[in-house]
Amino acid sequence: MNQCAFSISPWQALRALTVRVATLRLFMGLLSAAVPAWAVQKPVNVLVLYSNGRLLPANIEVDRGLRDVVTSQGERPVLLFDEFLDTPQFEGPAYVELLGTYLRGKYAEHRPDVVVAGGREALTFCLQQCPTLFPGVRIVHIGASRSIMEELGLPKSDVLGTPIDYDFAGTIEWALRWHPQARHLLLVTGTSPLDRQWESRLRKEVRRFSGRVAIEFLAGLSTAEVLRRLGALRPDTVVFSPGYYVDGDGHHQTPQESVKAMAQASGAPVYGPFNTFIGTGAVGGVMVDFYAMGRRAGQQVNAVLAGHLPVATDPSEIVPNSLNVDWRQIQRWGIDRASIPGDVVVHFREPTLWEAYAREILIAVAVFLVQGALIVGLFVERRRRLAAVRAEHKQRFELVRASRLAVVGELAGAIAHEINQPLGAILSNAEAAELMLESGMHRTDEIRQILADIRLDDLRASEVILRVRALLSKHQMVHQRLDLNEVVSDVERILRAEARRRNANLDIRLPATPAMMVGDRIQIQQILINLVLNALDAIEGLPESRRTVTVSVENAEGRVRLAVQDRGAGVGSEHLPRLFESFFTTKSSGMGLGLPIVRTLVDAHGGSVTADRDVAEGAVFRVEFPAADAIDKGLKSQT
Ligand code: ADP
Repeated sequence: MNQCAFSISPWQALRALTVRVATLRLFMGLLSAAVPAWAVQKPVNVLVLYSNGRLLPANIEVDRGLRDVVTSQGERPVLLFDEFLDTPQFEGPAYVELLGTYLRGKYAEHRPDVVVAGGREALTFCLQQCPTLFPGVRIVHIGASRSIMEELGLPKSDVLGTPIDYDFAGTIEWALRWHPQARHLLLVTGTSPLDRQWESRLRKEVRRFSGRVAIEFLAGLSTAEVLRRLGALRPDTVVFSPGYYVDGDGHHQTPQESVKAMAQASGAPVYGPFNTFIGTGAVGGVMVDFYAMGRRAGQQVNAVLAGHLPVATDPSEIVPNSLNVDWRQIQRWGIDRASIPGDVVVHFREPTLWEAYAREILIAVAVFLVQGALIVGLFVERRRRLAAVRAEHKQRFELVRASRLAVVGELAGAIAHEINQPLGAILSNAEAAELMLESGMHRTDEIRQILADIRLDDLRASEVILRVRALLSKHQMVHQRLDLNEVVSDVERILRAEARRRNANLDIRLPATPAMMVGDRIQIQQILINLVLNALDAIEGLPESRRTVTVSVENAEGRVRLAVQDRGAGVGSEHLPRLFESFFTTKSSGMGLGLPIVRTLVDAHGGSVTADRDVAEGAVFRVEFPAADAIDKGLKSQT
């Protein structure tokens, strides 16, 4: 075996050891740099000792406040331990001794630097036991009134705490103010030593209300009896209770549980002095905020841990009380909201619609306003438009009438002729009859014939006058069923007379069947007269063979047609697009209103008018109207 392969020199061994130590030191250095300072610092221990049980709502609130402040302070880690004396279930010297032994043993390795004592029993225990259990420990107390402090010989330099002052009378005062109809004040208390202390304190404090209400105590009754009595109450009573730990039957509960049962059973409003009662059904009261109480104690613990001892405190300071209400109970008991001061702490208030949705409501209102303004604007605009349309209609109507008057003026010669002719015939007939009578020839039959002719001529003349009067009348447009053939016949005589006057022929072609339409008789006549007068103008001065104007009526599918054709020069293609424009004329004495008026009247009857220039000679104007049957069918299908 080769020995040399495994042997090392002492120098080599020393060098190897030196390298290893250096490496280890480097590693330790790195390790200590990686671990934060607090991880290697000894923690501070704070023991919180509560008089009552773990589940007492007030303790839970105090503990929350305490932990919120203490755990977030200090450079060194703080360990908080909770212990509960569980009074009033556990009491007496033997229990106290046992507890001392237990705490000494349990906290031997975690000696408390500060003990927080919550409530009279815990403070009493601590003042007596802590100096021996945990020498040098500082004490912070919570929930001790001034009288308890005095009783226990406080303040002391190593004991710190802010006293509390439960305002029983203040709560009762508000209750009586909010229930002005109340005639009775009922006070409910229990049987534990603390319950009895509250009872005796209450008995002293309520004396001042004796002039205003009848005062009654339900002290030390069984819960069942308390609830039965409260159930029989009417709203003319106000109930006040600090709750109780033990009832007349010796049953244990928390004050919160006892008040909850009372509030649910009671026919009268229930008030109490602790904010843990809010939400049980109690209305409210002047209350100490247990959470704030815990925070205050936490600040004092921090001060002690920071070495500020004795901590300078204001001797007159107390844990603040505030007026608290459950909004649902305010509503339930119909309490006048005006009597609730502004600084009251309100619980369970549903935000009003406005509070919850102010932004949305404002947006909605803005939208509504804008929409409303738009609608109003549109209405105004619509009214303006309607007024304008009405004014335009009126003007158009006036214009149509004015043009009718002008046309009648143009026909004056023909009209005069049409009246003169029967008048002349009447005259000569009358003269002939006179001569017969004078001659003594009593040819009765002939005279009767003459008189009949006179009557006929008179009728002819008066018919012409009637037609002219109708044309001149200021009538409202009347839609009625009418036969287009009859309308043509109405003005036929005057038109024929005019044609004759102008040495022209009028050829009228009417169908054998009526051409029924719906419209205004006078306006249709006006359409016809305008077209015929234009046609007569167009053939003026032409050879006789071309001096004919043809008026025809036709029945078509769902329509009736009126056509006026002449053999004049026709409409120039350059004029065609402007034919129906107002004031367009090619005549020296023309007004350019005849055709626009024709179109207006045709439109008003739901019809159409066209000018045709494709005929070999002359012009043809075609007017179409819906037939009366087609209108009837349309109306039926709509209903
Ligand atoms: P006006 O008769 O006062 O000129 P109208 O509006 O009735 O006004 O006619 C407008 C124009 O249309 C006429 O000046 C003429 O040029 C043309 N016109 C109308 N009817 C005929 C027709 N039958 N033949 C040729 N041109 C016509």
